[in-house]
Amino acid sequence: MLVTRNEAQATFTLIPQSADEDRKVERVLRSVAPKSRLTYGGRDSDASGRSTRVTFSGFDITVPPAENEPFIDQIRNIAYFGAGLHLLGETTTDNGRIALLVTGGFCKVCGGNIIEWGRSEWATCSACVQKCQHQYEKGAVHGGNVDIGVGLFCGICGVAKPRDPDEAVMMQADRHQAVSDELGILVATELTEEVLLEAIALAKEHARAA
Ligand SMILES: [Zn+2]
Ligand SMILES: [Zn+2]
Repeated sequence: MLVTRNEAQATFTLIPQSADEDRKVERVLRSVAPKSRLTYGGRDSDASGRSTRVTFSGFDITVPPAENEPFIDQIRNIAYFGAGLHLLGETTTDNGRIALLVTGGFCKVCGGNIIEWGRSEWATCSACVQKCQHQYEKGAVHGGNVDIGVGLFCGICGVAKPRDPDEAVMMQADRHQAVSDELGILVATELTEEVLLEAIALAKEHARAA
């Protein structure tokens, strides 16, 4: 497949490159209703960790190594971390091929398409994030320089509260401790016996609380 990205429309176009891929596209158009989610089923990647194939139920996107990998990785991240990949319908390319038009999700405020996984996870597009009357609450945050930590984020659109420049930068170990103390989630960078015992204790505690 050749994958192209349309920034203004917030869409990806999946263009088949062989008769076999033409049939895959036809099959999706026959079996999936527009606006439906394509269920993610995993990926293959090359030695440097770039996706070469992303699988959905009854369908896969395969690209030759090192070709348009930014887009296939974006599609994989949307499908895996975000709200999935959604079929919009078909489009015809300049050379007459039927291609699939997809997006990552839909904005709950304006209904527009979203292709950033961080935004699709919260179903709020970037324009609507700008207009949001943020209401910050405490919870697990991830992304950027933080693998996981406790921070303030908006419960409506999901953006993190900008850091106070005077605030001391928490060391990674302290952040992990805060996640464990406040959220009961264990963060381990190395699997030791101690970590394993703590995980079992937390799991038991969680089972009692549930
Ligand atoms: Zn919006
Ligand atoms: Zn907000």
